[in-house]
Parts: sequence; structure tokens; C-alpha cells
Amino acid sequence: MWEYGAMDSHMTPDEFRENGYAVVDWIADYLENVDSYPVLSTAEPGDISALLPDHAPDRAEPFSDLMTDLDRVVMPGITHWQSPGWFAYFPANSSPPSVLAEFVSAGLGVQGMLWSTSPAVTEIEVRVLDWLVEMLGLPTSWRSDGPGGGVIQMSASDATHAALVVSRHTRSDGVPAEDMVVYVSDQAHSSIEKGCTVAGIGHCVKVQTDADFAMDVHALERSIAADIAAGRTPICVVSAIGTTATTAVDPIRAIGEIAERTGMWHHVDAAYAGTAMVCEEFRHHQDGLEMADSYTFNPHKWMMVNFDCNVLWVADRKPLIETMSILPPYLRNEASDAGSVIDYRDWHVPLGRRFRALKLWWVIRSYGVEGIQTMVREHVRLADHVASWIERDDRFELVAAHPFGLVCFRHLGGNDATRSLGAALNASGEVAVTPSHIDEMWFVRVSVGQATTELAHVDRLLELIDELA
Ligand SMILES: *Cc1c(COP(=O)(O)O)cnc(C)c1O
Repeated sequence: MWEYGAMDSHMTPDEFRENGYAVVDWIADYLENVDSYPVLSTAEPGDISALLPDHAPDRAEPFSDLMTDLDRVVMPGITHWQSPGWFAYFPANSSPPSVLAEFVSAGLGVQGMLWSTSPAVTEIEVRVLDWLVEMLGLPTSWRSDGPGGGVIQMSASDATHAALVVSRHTRSDGVPAEDMVVYVSDQAHSSIEKGCTVAGIGHCVKVQTDADFAMDVHALERSIAADIAAGRTPICVVSAIGTTATTAVDPIRAIGEIAERTGMWHHVDAAYAGTAMVCEEFRHHQDGLEMADSYTFNPHKWMMVNFDCNVLWVADRKPLIETMSILPPYLRNEASDAGSVIDYRDWHVPLGRRFRALKLWWVIRSYGVEGIQTMVREHVRLADHVASWIERDDRFELVAAHPFGLVCFRHLGGNDATRSLGAALNASGEVAVTPSHIDEMWFVRVSVGQATTELAHVDRLLELIDELA
């Protein structure tokens, strides 16, 4: 069974064990020492490709050479997202149980496109997503035993694209897609505009935001009225719980009421902040979700599940399945025909799907709900610590509220001072932050959320800010 046809270069079971242990040791050493690397890769364009041969090897190479090149070729071009000095973008957390689950998933090498192509893949995913509904205080009707349901996708961008396609499908009665309108705030993630483009939806209108960077619902209502008057058809509004720039929270309930009144689909993007809802004290931000039609969040950001792992929930699974299912004869089978099982290929664009639920399951079991709550609360506490330090220093000011783990501040010396502070912090090698801007105002984003970040790392960041400002 272990023989690979006529090839004589495959690993024997013993070689696989030996190499596998070496890989595990390598990863353990890496994670143990990740804080000793400069956080951002200093590779210049072409540095890594210069180390690669122009052609594929004709002859098999020993695994030990592959491992040597991991250090020689790969590592100089790696940015260390798992470093405790990682304050850039949002976290893309991993964790040991998640890594091990990925390993097992690759070892099993199954396709979970249909229930019947590996029942465990589907049934574990369904159960774990039901757990998450409870863990995050989401509407119980989204559970698989209600009208709704959840599905793991690759990314929030895919989930939002899927939601937009469904909203287009449900409103397609004689309305050409080029006359359809989707509303987002001017702070919304670019994936929504991209999703509209990919879905062929004619208009993606950016609604202005208020002083807190949250969608102005009066501006939304004015846009809807103007579009209807111009003969266009509003089909969907996408709101955010935690925008990417500043983690602003749109008024979910007010937007939901407008969506209901105007017959629009309401999709909620909580890609980053969704994880915070594991703690009850943040759930007021998602008030009104029971009126939403779909919702997405990324366990692959803050929940210690390594990329890729996104979840999309729909309040009613029927229109999603109607939009996404196409049934060629070779995919027909008894269980599916009887409607007694979920076939996840009908819940998204791809057909094939890997066993991503395993890592979500292993992470939740390894930390427990309490472990994840503890991590979130600690990160938010550390972010509050950063924010009060900034507030006390008269060289800086906060530019937005910090409801979760992200703190945005600027140097009062202006845009140039702000940008050079961001660049100097990143050049230190000890930390990574993200300089960003809204319109003409530059600021530095400090995202506290890497799973191993502690007070000492945050204090070192503040020391560096103090020195380099
Ligand atoms: C990160 C982010 C996304 C995109 O997530 P992907 O999974 O990388 O597609 C979308 N929306 C918001 C608010 C985000 O923060």
C-alpha cells in the first residue's frame, strides 16, 4: 500500500517517520525561537528567486537537502507573523494543535466535497460550527438544526463573494445585474467591492461614515432613495463589526431595519472582531444580528486556527444552496438524493474541499472556550494599556476608539512624523506595525493579538515608540 507505482524514490514508512519527526522538531525550534528573528523579512525583490534553480530537478533529491534549503532559501524571505512582536495588520494566529491538525489533514488527504466522500469531514464541521454559534452568542436559528447553517470557506473575501452572489440570485427577477446596487461604508474592506466586481454587480456604493468611522444610516437611506429614483435596484447592504482600518462598528440593528424595510440582503463582515464575541462583554456590538441574512468571521485571524479557516453563516440555507448547486450525474448518491445529509460543495464556489474543521475542532478542544476568552481579554487589556500610554504622552493622539485589540494613533507632528515613526519601528526588527491612512490623515495601527504576545512585548513596543518618535 505504501508503494508508489514504479517510482523508487518514494519514502518508506520508516523514512517518513524519521523525516516527519525532523519536521516537527524544526517547527518546534522555530516557534521556540521566533522572537529572535527580525519580524519583517529584509529580503529585496528577487533575493529568494536568485537562490532557486531555473529548472526542476530531473533526479530525486534527498529530503535532508529540502530541509537544508528551508533554512538557506526560505527563512530569509519569511515575515514572522507568529512573533510576539507582531503588531501589524491583524493577527494571523496559529497554534500547536492547529499545526498538528493540518498535518493530520494532509496525511488523510481526503476531499470533503460531499458528505459521502468522507462523512467525518462534514459532520465534524457541522457540529463545530454549531458550537461556535453558541460560543459567539450568534442567533440560534443559524444552527444546522434551524433554517440556517454555517460553512468553512477559505477566506472572508470568498464568504462575502458567496453572499453577494446569493443576494444577486434572490433579487434576479428581471433585474439586470448591472442595475443592481450594493451598499458598504467608505471604511469597508476592499473584498466587498472586489466581490461585487466578480459577481458582475453594477454598483458598489460607498456610504459615508460618521465621526466614529461607522456607517451613517441617514446617508445610507439617502443613497437608497437616489438609486431607486434613478431606476437602480438596491439588493444588499454589507455592514462591518470591526473595520480593517480602525475596528469601527457599524450600527448593525439600524442597518438591519433598513435592509428589511427595503427588501435588501444584509451581510455582516466581522472578519477580525468576530472572535471577540466569545466574551459576553463585547456582544453588544453585534446587537441586531438576528435580522442579518449572512455573517462571516475568520478563525484564522484571532482564534489561533492557522490560515485558511473562515466561517460563513446564513440565516436561511435554502437560497445559498439554490444558488450554488449544480448536480452532474457523477456526483449523485443516495445520501444526498434523500436530503438526509449536507453536501458542502453546494455551499460555496469550489467543489473540492479539505478537512479544515479538524484544526478548528482541535483548537477549541485544546484551549476550551475559557482559554480563548482568556486570550481575547488579555489582548484587549494590553491594547487598553497601549492606548492609555498614548493618551498620556502629548506627542501623540488616538485617532479612533479601540473597542477590541487594535489601537490607532498619530504623531501630532503630522503625517511625515507619523510615517517615519512607523517606518522606524518596522526597521527596528523587534516589532512590526502598520502605517495606514484615512483620506489625508496618516496613523500607525498597533494590533495586539498574536497569541504569544505578553505585557513585556507591549512594553518594549512602547519603549521603542518613545525612543523613535
Ligand atoms: C481581514 C479582513 C477581511 C479579509 O479577510 P480574508 O480572509 O483575508 O479574505 C475582510 N473584512 C475585514 C473587516 C477584514 O478585517
